[in-house]
Amino acid sequence: MAAPIEEKDQTTQDPRKEGIASSIRVVPHVPKGGIMFQDITPLLLDPKVFKDTVDLFIERYTGKDISAVAGIEARGFIFGPPIALAIGAKFIPLRKPRKLPGEVISEAYVLEYGRDCLEMHVGAVQQGEHVLVVDDLIATGGTLCAAISLLERAGAKVVECACVIELPELKGRERLKDTPLYVLVESH
Ligand code: AMP
Repeated sequence: MAAPIEEKDQTTQDPRKEGIASSIRVVPHVPKGGIMFQDITPLLLDPKVFKDTVDLFIERYTGKDISAVAGIEARGFIFGPPIALAIGAKFIPLRKPRKLPGEVISEAYVLEYGRDCLEMHVGAVQQGEHVLVVDDLIATGGTLCAAISLLERAGAKVVECACVIELPELKGRERLKDTPLYVLVESH
């Protein structure tokens, strides 16, 4: 079950995180045995909780000199665009192979349940641009590492990664090394 994360610099827990944690459905053995799939679709069906989720990110990133939000296909496309619009940043889709029509750079990576690859259009990001990477969940951290690598190869600075859910047992946070990670809830 998902649980809210306590902010280290706050004495009280933001009550919005309780609602977010309780709106995530855990589906055992999907897409294969042993995986506890964290389903965010119930959260999306509740407009208040969906808005609370996006608002928590907007509150954190407004006025932080972030000019681009990069969302990871597919569920990073749900949370990334409303954050980008609210903070006045562009949105960069990081897509699965052969989805983007233009010239791309690619990065292969290993998932909790398989292998995959992320692609980004050449020219999507400018040299030295400050980018926030958004996805629904961090498990092993392989996907976010691939996203960071793609953006850094293009000359961008990834200032932080933001996810709704962290699976802390998989230690993905450690793989991100110097790139900070912000999450709203954790699931065990
Ligand atoms: P990882 O690269 O291992 O950190 O995996 C993160 C990516 O895989 C995210 O894009 C998630 O949407 C997806 N993912 C991995 N594990 C799960 C899980 N248990 N439940 C839902 N999505 C997952």
